[in-house]
Amino acid sequence: MSATILRNLPSIDQLLRRDALQPLIDSAGREMVRDRLREVLEEFRRELVGRNGQADSVGDAAELAKEIERRLAARFARRQQSQTQRVINATGVVLHTNLGRAPLSEAAIQAINEVARDYSNLEYDLASGKRGKRGTGLTAMLGELLGCESAAVVNNCAAAVLITLNTLAEGGEVIISRGELIEIGGSFRIPDVIAKSGARIREVGTTNRTRLSDYANAINEHTKVILRAHPSNYRVIGFTEKPALEDLAALARERGLPLFEDLGSGCLVDLNPLGIHDEPTVAQALKAGASVVAFSGDKLLGGPQAGIILGKAEFIQRIKSNPLMRALRVDKLTFAALEATIATYLAGRAATEIPVQAAMHATKESITNRADAFIRSAKKLTGNLSLTLVDGHSVIGGGSAPETQLPTTLIGVTSSQFSPDELEEKLRLNQPPIIARIQDDCLVFDLRTVNPGAEPEILSALAALGSF
Ligand SMILES: *Cc1c(COP(=O)(O)O)cnc(C)c1O
Repeated sequence: MSATILRNLPSIDQLLRRDALQPLIDSAGREMVRDRLREVLEEFRRELVGRNGQADSVGDAAELAKEIERRLAARFARRQQSQTQRVINATGVVLHTNLGRAPLSEAAIQAINEVARDYSNLEYDLASGKRGKRGTGLTAMLGELLGCESAAVVNNCAAAVLITLNTLAEGGEVIISRGELIEIGGSFRIPDVIAKSGARIREVGTTNRTRLSDYANAINEHTKVILRAHPSNYRVIGFTEKPALEDLAALARERGLPLFEDLGSGCLVDLNPLGIHDEPTVAQALKAGASVVAFSGDKLLGGPQAGIILGKAEFIQRIKSNPLMRALRVDKLTFAALEATIATYLAGRAATEIPVQAAMHATKESITNRADAFIRSAKKLTGNLSLTLVDGHSVIGGGSAPETQLPTTLIGVTSSQFSPDELEEKLRLNQPPIIARIQDDCLVFDLRTVNPGAEPEILSALAALGSF
């Protein structure tokens, strides 16, 4: 019996001629579709043979062909889904590490566009017509914005910490407080990075309290760097103590040591007005006397993934001459995006034009108005769904300001047809994917992190769900 079924299986050539497969052939290419068809067909054949007696439930030639088409489509869909693509972040987590952290500003996108399309002066000095250095323009801009002597850019902040410690402390000791032996996530652990840099760790103080004298007493002839790491994603509260950065800087200066601060977030604007009190700005760290600071390009700064190292020219020069620099350096697209982002800060327009800054600065009132308008325009479309305003909080995310919650107004979605989990899944599998969250057994959206241009896409996804 299974022999008949197997004979009913269409051939690759028959399948390739089917109308339903033409769009896929047009987009993915004939060879690619043929290869995948061969695999799907082989898998199906083996399955049929395995099923033996029950195989006649599978159906006639036409049904078999349909089943193969379905399996092929699922395969391409799975591949497409795993490719990097745009998603709508309706979670309200401004710097969502799983969702690519910071979306870029229009100016940064425009800059990438131009530099990607054509040649650029990446390592060419237009004034002299001779070979130039990467990042000269960016260094000048960062100097204007932050008053630093010099700057270097690497792939991310983890790379910045690694190359800085390797340059300044290889073979010697790095002093760090026990309260700062942090793990950022993604297996970035300060003690491991120090070990990889070729330096030895010299822990001082306790988890909750470290005094200036602890640092002073630990300095010896092997000491190369005093490291301060911002406890990005957690806080030690209660009976705590650590020396002011100014005092630590004075100690370092007195003993002729560099003070290196790993800031993590790279906050360039004072966030105190937003109720965020524990994100020191880069300018504050430099002013307090840190010799070198490092931070991410795609956290609070709101630019592309990068690690920015700023500080005293003598140290930055040594870092740039480290052979690791070649392995960790960034490409022209990153420079273009970073320069455009910094230009927006220089022009004083960051709070409105840098997307993560704009999202953080959005007031509860403005979000309520958006949510209200959204619900009104959804009224006629959303059938079995019901949409309501729900009080809630957004968070910064990305290992920044873990204690801060920004008041927001969420849109709660309930359905007579689907559970909250089902709604969440259907939106996640939408095209484009819409990532929402579930709070108190209700699916909620936070428009704080949704680009206004994406609202119609959410509306049409809801309309499709509502008409089930
Ligand atoms: C986030 C963070 C890092 C790592 O930054 P990436 O840019 O993700 O590599 C390093 N140190 C601190 C303190 C951080 O918060």
